[in-house]
Amino acid sequence: MNINKNFDNLVPNYLFAEIAKRVTDYQTANPDKDIIRLGIGDVTLPLAPAATEALKKGADDLSKKETFKGYPDYEGYEFVRKAVSDYYKSFGVEISPDEILISDGAKSDCGNIGDIFGADNIVLVTDPVYPVYVDSNIMSGRSIIYADCNKYNNFKAMPDKNIHADIIYLCSPNNPTGAAYTKDELKAWIDYAMENDAVILYDSAYEAFITEDLPRSIFAVEGARHCAVEFCSLSKTAGFTGTRCGYTIIPKELERDGHNIYKLWYRRQATKFNGVSWPVQCAAAAVFSEEGQKQIQVNLSYYRENAKIISQALDELGIYYTGGKNSPYIWLECPNGMGSWEFFDLLLTKANVVGTPGAGFGKNGEGFFRLTSFGDRDKTIEAVKRLKDFLS
Ligand code: PLP
Repeated sequence: MNINKNFDNLVPNYLFAEIAKRVTDYQTANPDKDIIRLGIGDVTLPLAPAATEALKKGADDLSKKETFKGYPDYEGYEFVRKAVSDYYKSFGVEISPDEILISDGAKSDCGNIGDIFGADNIVLVTDPVYPVYVDSNIMSGRSIIYADCNKYNNFKAMPDKNIHADIIYLCSPNNPTGAAYTKDELKAWIDYAMENDAVILYDSAYEAFITEDLPRSIFAVEGARHCAVEFCSLSKTAGFTGTRCGYTIIPKELERDGHNIYKLWYRRQATKFNGVSWPVQCAAAAVFSEEGQKQIQVNLSYYRENAKIISQALDELGIYYTGGKNSPYIWLECPNGMGSWEFFDLLLTKANVVGTPGAGFGKNGEGFFRLTSFGDRDKTIEAVKRLKDFLS
């Protein structure tokens, strides 16, 4: 037998293992030091009460014959899809419930969507990049081209008409840079996709962090229904990183190469995925209820305030950064021309603060560094104080 040789082309991802190693080594040598972690991409606050109540009720339903549920619908229960559709309506975007497919999260959908596209398509990702887009396409043997994000375009790459791509991954607000596209910028990508007969795979996992007048969905932009698929998730919106629930939106009219994209994805899901459990779908619907929406704002505001505390310190220090607003991530330029890992080591050993070296997200991440707002408030304040003491 043969294995899929494309796996040989994956670049080993040592980023988080290397961070953990350096932190453990330092802590072992300096057991008295209080290390603060601002590198984490996971949420830390609990689920909203409306979600946990719905989870419990959903579990109770499974314990009685009359309310027991077996396999769910492949595309998710209608009431959950309707709840997502109403949520989109609340910020002015019309999506029909039958264009929404509920899943166990955005990571799986972003990675699995490749099943419906040919292996010879050219994939475009922006660099720095959420590694899932790259690795899942390498596994399928596709060629990848990189659109540079840097200080000169404020970490928002724009299309180059001289370069052809078939599949375009966009993530806005972005992980890791926190940069968020405007409507006009997304329109330029939509026009480019249409000219290239391409599909945009739009990851809006951080849309709930948008506070300014920026699109929360690519479908807020004219023309997107003819070229885009959107992935979103309750992971960062409502703390579902461990609970697992997301959704993918595919306009019914989206066609490529004589095929309907919704139908292909439905077929793929029906073949390889058996749906999200009843209690979790109940919890997801509860997040979109009036009460749930109010409750999740409490956590979102907490993270936003943390982001503000970090951003204000960087403003005071005169350090260039993107994100912080409309995003839980703050992407800063390492001071004094330092490399990402050099800054990581210095920050760890001199300020006992841990962040994520930008170099781990692609070549344009070198010289940059990611801090997150998902930590504890007091620790964030203390970390920022140390950062200021150390850098000023
Ligand atoms: N998309 C982006 C850009 C992310 O940063 C993450 C998680 O960090 C995900 C998707 C994963 O989302 P989920 O937890 O729904 O799989």
